[in-house]
Amino acid sequence: MSILNSWWRALVALIFPPHCPVCDLPLGDEKGPICSPCLASAPLTSDWALRNDTPCDRLSVKGCEVRVVAMLKFHKAPQWRHLIHQFKYHSRWRLAREVGRLYGGKMAGSLFLSDVDWVIPMPLHPLRRMWRGYNQSEELARGIAEQTGLKVETKSVVRVHYTRSQVWRTREERFKNVQDAFRVAHPERLAGCHLLLVDDVLTTGSTMRTCIQAIVDAVPDCRISVAVLADAGGGS
Ligand SMILES: [Zn+2]
Repeated sequence: MSILNSWWRALVALIFPPHCPVCDLPLGDEKGPICSPCLASAPLTSDWALRNDTPCDRLSVKGCEVRVVAMLKFHKAPQWRHLIHQFKYHSRWRLAREVGRLYGGKMAGSLFLSDVDWVIPMPLHPLRRMWRGYNQSEELARGIAEQTGLKVETKSVVRVHYTRSQVWRTREERFKNVQDAFRVAHPERLAGCHLLLVDDVLTTGSTMRTCIQAIVDAVPDCRISVAVLADAGGGS
């Protein structure tokens, strides 16, 4: 099966040579999924190296100040948005894992992660996960965990309401759309822990904030930090 699988992948690569998901040029002999020039010019923030202790107003809830780091500055290199579209809407979960490894490699050893107990990917509703075949945030989280030695927890925070796309909604509509969308299934596992929530892009933060509120309501003594690939919402 695995030989057939590798033959099949080699055949697909022959017919459809892989392209860099950022610049869309052929990868040629490149070993990774992103070409060397794009990697070398990636618009990194270095947030994680600054030990960003300033809480993020968009995400902090009563009783829990939330720190946020982002890996990329989208506004400096918008073509990197294309990368996220690739793994969000074009079934490229391996690319999400690889980008997670890249992010984890940058963050490894940083003070920002020094006392994190669990890495928690932003959960997808089971129906959406079934339809997509994977959760891109979980792949990012697993890539981060591989490079940092942290543990991933996917069972404790679950999405219980299927919500339609947030893309065209206003900030208020987004909040109403995701209210009560999350539930903490195993609060005892998270008690007293420092949690690192992982997602791909942060915009208004309404979905992430609702998730944080659900966690804090169920586990009042936990601490929460957030790592996203890009903060597209601006502000704090
Ligand atoms: Zn490239």
